[in-house]
Amino acid sequence: MTKTLTAQQFFQQFPDDDACLNHLFRVRFQGISHCPKCKRETKFHRVTGQPAFSCQWCGHHLHPMVGTPFAKSHTALQKWFYAIYLFTTTRHGVPAKELQRQLAVTYKTAWRMGHEIRKYMAVVDGDRPLSGTVEVDETLIGGGQKGVGPGNRVTGNKAIVFGMIERGGQIMTKVVASTKRESLFPIIDANIVKGSTIYSDEYATYRVLPWRGYKHETVNHAAKEYARGAVHTNSIENMWGQLKRSIRGTHINVSPKHLQKYLGEFEFRFNLRKAPHLMFDRLLMNFGK
Ligand SMILES: [Zn+2]
Repeated sequence: MTKTLTAQQFFQQFPDDDACLNHLFRVRFQGISHCPKCKRETKFHRVTGQPAFSCQWCGHHLHPMVGTPFAKSHTALQKWFYAIYLFTTTRHGVPAKELQRQLAVTYKTAWRMGHEIRKYMAVVDGDRPLSGTVEVDETLIGGGQKGVGPGNRVTGNKAIVFGMIERGGQIMTKVVASTKRESLFPIIDANIVKGSTIYSDEYATYRVLPWRGYKHETVNHAAKEYARGAVHTNSIENMWGQLKRSIRGTHINVSPKHLQKYLGEFEFRFNLRKAPHLMFDRLLMNFGK
């Protein structure tokens, strides 16, 4: 496994805003060899005093920050880079308080930065269909967690999350309105390739899966049966455990409104767990898309 940068390596690679802008240009205009305006083979040089690069022949400008959250922000590019670095190197995400302290920005700025980064994590992760053997399960998240004060009661405010995990592969999680067929089946149909094998508990909703083109095996939790050979839902139950610890440990309480974004962040990290060094550039590449 290739390692992510240490903090020291990060500051060596990105000592200032210029180094960050050069990197952003390379990542967003990868291998650009011809000018989009004059069409000639060219090199782009940094424009002094502007966050832009210009064609050596016609002077056409390229702006690596345009369309990204960096362009509208008063926060230095290096601080953004460091925030992204923190997000891609922690196991559980970065609370706004922590960002505020590490970047020396206001809490409001830190909170906004965190939300922007999370939003793009969900975009980058994309939603490639799952296949092979897929475990599915549903769980309740939020509401009544520790740390929620009496003036901020969230009892009865739990969100239902439906999860799918491809054995040895990707996860996908969605906030759903209910665990009824009309809520779950459109998600299953859209995201699990027909002919795949689905493992679930014996919840009635899942019983008709064979009629929808899936092979289906169940584990009978009511009868204290947790695994029958390869048939189990341990992967997804472990994933729920990680997700809940992650939310509890970092964010105290996530409102249902924001939950899908946190799920996106969790998926991004989980799905790139075997290639964490790719997270940083992959995120930069997609900022602005
Ligand atoms: Zn040109």
